Amino acid sequence: MSTERTARKNNSNDLEAGFEILDDFARFDQKNDVFRRAWWDDSIKSKKTELFYSTYREPLKNWRKADGYTQKDYALRNAAWHVSDILTEINKDEDRREGFSDAFTLQTSVADKQIDMGTERQASDEIKKIALSFGAGLVGITNYDKRWEYNKKFSDLSGTSRPAEIPHALNNVIVVAQPMDYEWVRTVPSALSGSATGLGYSHDALVVLSLAQYIRNLGYEATASMNDTSLAIPYAIKAGIGEYGKHGLLITPKYGPRIRLGKVYTNMPLAHDQPIAFGVKEFCEICRRCTKGCPVKAIPDGPPSTAIHNQSNIRGVRKWSVDGEKCFGFWVSQNTDCSICIRVCPYNKDYSHWLHRLGLRLAGTGLRHFMLWLDVKLGYGERKKSSLWWQGARKNSWSDL
Ligand code: SF4
Ligand code: SF4
Repeated sequence: MSTERTARKNNSNDLEAGFEILDDFARFDQKNDVFRRAWWDDSIKSKKTELFYSTYREPLKNWRKADGYTQKDYALRNAAWHVSDILTEINKDEDRREGFSDAFTLQTSVADKQIDMGTERQASDEIKKIALSFGAGLVGITNYDKRWEYNKKFSDLSGTSRPAEIPHALNNVIVVAQPMDYEWVRTVPSALSGSATGLGYSHDALVVLSLAQYIRNLGYEATASMNDTSLAIPYAIKAGIGEYGKHGLLITPKYGPRIRLGKVYTNMPLAHDQPIAFGVKEFCEICRRCTKGCPVKAIPDGPPSTAIHNQSNIRGVRKWSVDGEKCFGFWVSQNTDCSICIRVCPYNKDYSHWLHRLGLRLAGTGLRHFMLWLDVKLGYGERKKSSLWWQGARKNSWSDL
């Protein structure tokens, strides 16, 4: 009985995607996301969490002399978040925080005339070309999957739950990944490194809003979304964007774990991508760099399991689960977001260099122990001083990341 029920919960490409869904699987309630809990749960919410959120938006008044936490570091971080923040706040009078709590509604109407896009494959190829032209780093397409949709939504503003808002009729999901700046991420923990996160989201918003509007102009429904309606990582895995890492993040072959994800839900008929595997799971099994590097021990050790830390973990999926309470607590104590687990990950490389692309291939082979040893030996993953970034010349434009 138990095996049959488990099989029914797993669908055909779950195994390729690396999902193992168990009997006690339950869809996730957005209210339990640790960032949402910071607004209503007294075990998380405090004066410090209020200060944490407010420093991203209010006129700057909290900085320190310490390297990476100066007025300039915070100024840049907040500037990088600015576009994303404007869009998130724009409909707050309607009890919506779009992009983080609620899907975007900042679109014009769907065109009356629906264009013929040819075959599903032709339509997918064109949509990917458009997404890349809008600045997406990676694009993949998969089907709507109710299991990864929040079963209930939650408003930070009014503190109320409401039904999920993406209809099943939007049966295709275009997943986009935006790269984050390699040099900024190397300075984590710092306020400067938060600029990588902020710019990732600001660019993410531009890509998903523009792509959704393009599709709507062709006469198909489309809704743009960032972290607001569903669990992005399972969708990205299904769409072939990357593999799941021990630090609970997606690892991609082009940018490693240094990405932000967005989605566009649409009823345009599209061909789907398949999950990919390039040796991440096997590498994570021998690597402990994120587990050891996390200052609050929020990242698990050992094999994937069904253990959960608290209500901010989804139930009934065998995987590596991070303790979101510990993680967010560290962010609040630092007064900025943390990505140490991204910085130290051996997959965090600048893959525009052929040597790193070769290293990526070797890490997926029996040479993975050697590659891990070499990574440590060569000092990858060590923190760089933010002041060095300020002193150095900018070598790359955003599109070169
Ligand atoms: S973001 Fe920082 S605190 Fe959170 S899991 Fe990663 S290393 Fe740990
Ligand atoms: S640091 Fe190592 S164990 Fe952690 S996600 Fe990266 S490769 Fe996997």
